Amino acid sequence: MAQVVYESPTAILSFDYHELMAQLGARIKEHRHGDDSKLRSWLQKASADGARPVTISHKDHYEAAEYLDRIIDLISHLLSDGKGFVYCKQCNRNIPPSARRTEPPSLLGTYSSPGGEERSEAEGLTKKTSEPGNGCGGSGFFCETGHELLSTGNGGA
Ligand SMILES: [Zn+2]
Repeated sequence: MAQVVYESPTAILSFDYHELMAQLGARIKEHRHGDDSKLRSWLQKASADGARPVTISHKDHYEAAEYLDRIIDLISHLLSDGKGFVYCKQCNRNIPPSARRTEPPSLLGTYSSPGGEERSEAEGLTKKTSEPGNGCGGSGFFCETGHELLSTGNGGA
């Protein structure tokens, strides 16, 4: 089963090729984003139609720089759906979907506030605080320890 692997500075994120392509196909239908179509062609070629794994590194240069943007956008949606495998380089372990955070835990409660109301961060963070519809932008994903796994915001220009 071919995988599409994206390596960020801090994590390795891998996805089933067909799952990723299904999501990408749905996005193309919905948004008709030209770069998504180009990305799909590129992925099909690079993987020989899913026959071999594709590794994408944040350090690499691609035919079009927008590919990385589109891929990060795409895989952030897959992560939101609890899909894929995430490996935190700093923890040296896989991060299961239940342990993925969309905010760094340190911001949620390293020390208890006088109000003392936000102490649920250790337990299942089921409520999605900042997710207005499907337009999630400028956030990221973190492991339980607070290491950034994927930044969907700016690339730190
Ligand atoms: Zn970590």
